[in-house]
Amino acid sequence: MALITKAIKGTKDVLPSEVYKNQYIEAKVLETAEKYGYKEIRTPVFEHTELFKRGVGDTTDVVQKEMYTFDDKGGRSITLRPEGTAGAARSFLESGLCNETLPQKVCYITSCYRYEKPQAGRLREFHQFGVECFGTQSPLADAEILSLAKSIFDNFGVKDLSLEINSIGCPKCRKEFHDALREYFSSRKDGLCDTCRDRLDRNPMRILDCKSPVCSEIAKDAPVVLDYLCDECKEHFEEVKKYLRAENIEFTVNPKIVRGLDYYTKTVFEFISDSIGAQGAVCAGGRYDGLIEELGGQKTPSLGFGMGIERLLLLMESQGCEFPEDSRPDLFIAALGDKATLKAVEIAKDMRGEGFSCIYDLNGRGLRAQMKYANKLGAKFTIVLGDNEVSSGIAKLKNMESGEETEIALATFVSGYYNITLSEQLKDLEINGESVDFGSLFGLGDKK
Ligand code: ATP
Ligand code: MG
Repeated sequence: MALITKAIKGTKDVLPSEVYKNQYIEAKVLETAEKYGYKEIRTPVFEHTELFKRGVGDTTDVVQKEMYTFDDKGGRSITLRPEGTAGAARSFLESGLCNETLPQKVCYITSCYRYEKPQAGRLREFHQFGVECFGTQSPLADAEILSLAKSIFDNFGVKDLSLEINSIGCPKCRKEFHDALREYFSSRKDGLCDTCRDRLDRNPMRILDCKSPVCSEIAKDAPVVLDYLCDECKEHFEEVKKYLRAENIEFTVNPKIVRGLDYYTKTVFEFISDSIGAQGAVCAGGRYDGLIEELGGQKTPSLGFGMGIERLLLLMESQGCEFPEDSRPDLFIAALGDKATLKAVEIAKDMRGEGFSCIYDLNGRGLRAQMKYANKLGAKFTIVLGDNEVSSGIAKLKNMESGEETEIALATFVSGYYNITLSEQLKDLEINGESVDFGSLFGLGDKK
């Protein structure tokens, strides 16, 4: 196939017949976030490269190996966002949200770009639902974002997810831990991959996060961060667990989780599933008390998480979670000839204005082909309009599911004809002498 008709490796189209699933997920996660006080923020797809180097950390896999970075025509180094936190944090500072009442709770659904080896659940362009809570040090907040993530999974009916949490301490307790790690890895240095050998000096904790199986094997018996927490961090972690228990949120403590961002502090967590193969982390996040300061702001303890939309979708499909039905046209008007087509345009305008979906053929098909087309679109009802129907003002309305046909006055579809709204008109519709609620006929309840 020619190159121009081939999508870039690791990218994926969402086709019209599938998009209702994404729309459902997106609407639902935003709705849930709103219940916790999160408002959407939209930030650009690219930022100065420096922001991610600082924000994500230049010893992380993301920055060292995975970023899409290029010079623009003005010679600036630009990077396509590999995650959502850095952009949101930049905006928090730049827009002055940082001077408003804290905490500021923001959320987003964004595309992210990482140069990784594509496989199921691992793409080069993927999408994240993320939340960021800027400006609170309370462990209540840690428990609250976990509760938010958990209730999203519960709402979707996702099962068998395990929540693993850890605390990776603050810069104070981290120092001692880093020393212990350096000591442990120094004697095993030769076995490490090149990147990790380099990390040994600069940020030894990153070695624990390396994906190379050789490094993971070496890291198996490495010192555990929980043994090095200072009193404040220990207490914070205990409080988080207390609040989780109060909400009956199950978790296990996994001292191996360190997370891929450099500025994570204290609580870190992952929601993991066995149902979608190797890429089992569906949601991950934690506290990043140092990030805002690192970016030049005031000390602003903060936290957040990112949830992979593609992985969530894979998970929901693999577990047979329910999606609402894809939308279908309420009415298809099969029009034959010029007069009938004009009438169809008029009816469709009024129907759409009243909140119904209404479709007619654009390609001059014959009657049989139009009915086939209506079937293909999944229309709930059709009416056929020819010259006769237009002059008599009466047409047949066909229920496409039952095949049942009824005569109907065309005037019924025209807004204001009876000096009442179309919805009211349709409500009082009589078919074969019986009154019919057109809204419920279309399965739309009391649609206004
Ligand atoms: P992994 O360990 O799988 O590489 P990560 O730690 O790099 O994940 P984060 O940076 O925490 O991932 O991103 C948050 C979430 O975004 C992940 O839990 C995952 O659901 C999703 N995600 C990350 N990278 C990808 C990707 N390349 N393709 C699809 N989803 C991804
Ligand atoms: Mg990764």
